[in-house]
Amino acid sequence: MIGLIGGMSWASTVEYYRLANMLVAERLGGFHSARMVVASVDFADIERYQIEGRWDEAGELLAEQARSLEDAGADLVLIGANTMHKVAPAVAAAVRIPLLHVADAVAAATKRAGIDTVGLLGTAYTMEQDFISGPLRAAGLTVLTPEANDRVEVHRVIYGELVKGEVHDPSRLFHQQVIARLVERGAQGIVLGCTELELLIGPADSAVPLFPTARLHVEAAVEAALADVGE
Ligand code: GLU
Repeated sequence: MIGLIGGMSWASTVEYYRLANMLVAERLGGFHSARMVVASVDFADIERYQIEGRWDEAGELLAEQARSLEDAGADLVLIGANTMHKVAPAVAAAVRIPLLHVADAVAAATKRAGIDTVGLLGTAYTMEQDFISGPLRAAGLTVLTPEANDRVEVHRVIYGELVKGEVHDPSRLFHQQVIARLVERGAQGIVLGCTELELLIGPADSAVPLFPTARLHVEAAVEAALADVGE
């Protein structure tokens, strides 16, 4: 049973839920669907903690969610967002079940693709701090981030539109340009390091392969969850 800390934002939790069910159905066939528990937080609390830098309290809030998932019978836990992986150590420490880190799923996928330089898009926290880029670099990747002006606008689109479930063409166009600038600087792949970005950006928007973190995270979870299903 997959445990998901969701609501960060609900728009990407919908995607996690949809993907988990699709992947389980693909793998097991018939009417099979994902066994899953979701602890969905109020994103207003998360956003306030982020802005005010109250990461310890955010970590406690998510640790509490992880414990409730464990108590409900989850065999593993996912933090359904990149940004909140900043508090992944606190969440992992709160439970006995494993936390599947989104950066591990991304690093495994870039390795399979034979890529060693990626561009990283995400919130300002994700692009400017090292809780996602650090593990990617530790896995041997060179990580490029957009220039400062581009980072400001990518961050604005995430909080101003995508977390509210709004997907707008001008923002897609802008992200195509940011991706092209990263490719010009040597990116061989683009990590959509915010779980809402894959609602906006698809393969047609990029000249190089995309690494959509929500999808890769769910794939890793489904693989782990079904590891002992005889097939
Ligand atoms: N879901 C987003 C992410 O993957 C951003 C929302 C948040 O700040 O948690 O980083």
